Amino acid sequence: MPLTLSKRCLEIAPSMTLAIDARAKELKAQGVDVVGFGAGEPDFDTPEYIRDAAKHALDAGMTRYTPVSGTLHLREEICTKLQCDNNLTYTPAQVIVTTGAKQALFNALSAIVNPGDEVLLPSPCWVSYPEMIRMAGGVPVMVPGNEDQNFLAGRAEIEPYVTEKTKALILNSPNNPNGCVWPREMLEGIADLAVEKGFYVISDEIYEKLVYDDVKHVSIASLGEAIKEQTIVVNGVSKTYAMTGWRLGYAAGPLSVIKAMTSFQSHSTSNANSIAQYATAVALTQGEQVLQEMIHEFDVRRRLMYSRINRIEGLKSHLPKGAFYMMLNISGLIGKKWRGREIKDSMSFADILLTAKNVAMVPGIAFGAENYMRLSYATSQAQINKGMDRLEEFVSELE
Ligand code: PMP
Ligand code: GLU
Repeated sequence: MPLTLSKRCLEIAPSMTLAIDARAKELKAQGVDVVGFGAGEPDFDTPEYIRDAAKHALDAGMTRYTPVSGTLHLREEICTKLQCDNNLTYTPAQVIVTTGAKQALFNALSAIVNPGDEVLLPSPCWVSYPEMIRMAGGVPVMVPGNEDQNFLAGRAEIEPYVTEKTKALILNSPNNPNGCVWPREMLEGIADLAVEKGFYVISDEIYEKLVYDDVKHVSIASLGEAIKEQTIVVNGVSKTYAMTGWRLGYAAGPLSVIKAMTSFQSHSTSNANSIAQYATAVALTQGEQVLQEMIHEFDVRRRLMYSRINRIEGLKSHLPKGAFYMMLNISGLIGKKWRGREIKDSMSFADILLTAKNVAMVPGIAFGAENYMRLSYATSQAQINKGMDRLEEFVSELE
């Protein structure tokens, strides 16, 4: 037998968001003054009360295996959170704790997708969804959003893509990469469609707390018993509590799906980190004040980045309502040159900008949005101003 790699792995592209972040961090480590708008990662430290909880867990000996689906204590706290924040009633048996929301998504897809099943993806969408669907043996089906509607796809846009093979839809509101938030009426239309046609909804709500301008996050699962029965709610603490490195996420849903996800996880990673589980239970129950301060700061940065971008000739962006991302329309710059190097697409824009001005952004193509760049404003106002000065200079040098 030749020593080849599996077809499944050969077909998978590495995560471009993580690759850009790694490149920016590498340059920084070499002493280069890089401005990183790449990573979807809060620049804040994990709040002190959460760090203290982890220290306590360590000293109290919470260092052993826990049940695969997480400690009962944490699953109870997650149920309380889902009830209070999202008006969703679940029992701890309907909850699984995972190694980041990424694993919750991967387990959910592995639990429901058979080879050839189709999974609908309103696009642009987060870079990992199509690859995760492929890894689970499914077929990603992009449902293009309309820029004039802030890229939101509702029932009318989604329905034409539903076939007999449609097994699920991944909904991500607030959205990565464009920051849009689905309003309740649109979610009602999508819920009706899912119930009528009979497909699962995987609702990735990891950015739920990061909403601005009085916008309210609504969980599609809360819109009725029928849709709740076919929705898997995915969430985690990476973004809300600045805990990306702790790797803690969770999912809640129908008992049969959660059980299958738990069996799957029991043979791959077992329980999520025991110390992080304890710290997460504490994170969820306290810290409203710290959270409000972080959200306020993100809001200030959002407005700053938006106003700076729209002052630059040839560039434009929408003011996003949630998450900490903004998409930058670069179609006005395609075909222009910087010192002889032509901007052909979002990839070449990212590349030329990084070498020319040491500013890192993720090319829109990673999210299925050519001629766009994704910028994360999860970085300080000083960095945003510095990066925007460089971007302005870069654009002025184009011929
Ligand atoms: N969903 C979305 C939309 C994301 O942007 C991310 C970013 N990491 C995740 C899920 C996964 O988060 P984590 O695994 O860190 O919990
Ligand atoms: N989700 C973040 C992003 O889109 C972090 C990196 C990743 O996991 O993809 O940048």
